[in-house]
Amino acid sequence: MMNPCFAVEKTLGKLVKWLRILGFDTLYEQDFPNSCIFDLADSRRILLTRTHSVGKQKSSPNLIFITSDNIFEQLKQVIKTLALEKTDIRPFSRCLRCNRAIEAIDKESVRYRVPDYIWETQNSFRFCPKCRKIYWPGSHTQRSMRLIKEMFGPQKSF
Ligand SMILES: [Zn+2]
Repeated sequence: MMNPCFAVEKTLGKLVKWLRILGFDTLYEQDFPNSCIFDLADSRRILLTRTHSVGKQKSSPNLIFITSDNIFEQLKQVIKTLALEKTDIRPFSRCLRCNRAIEAIDKESVRYRVPDYIWETQNSFRFCPKCRKIYWPGSHTQRSMRLIKEMFGPQKSF
């Protein structure tokens, strides 16, 4: 499936984070206080919900009813349902807070914006154009690297 994007219900915050780690455009209901999840969905956005009534009401092909309480099972369900593969993901390409695609920034520009030891040991930096958060290869946890490798095979780190 080409570049799926998502709108995710309030109760599925961890899933939002993980979908963004994988690089998917993911809106989170919580970030839009005046909207319900259906307002966020357009025709190409896939709704992820845990609410039975919603799942039953709308049997749209664009809706996935998440069954598990476990975050990794939830993630697997999405990946399996949409048959997502290694070529569909762009790990660590998106701001986890804002959902914006992060952009390359040169090392000099981040001199006083990251800890000294990071600046001294890293050469590749990116930043979020919205919240200005700086990312570098080590800013993602070993755990997320491992999980992605487990689900999709080896990845380039950045
Ligand atoms: Zn951001």
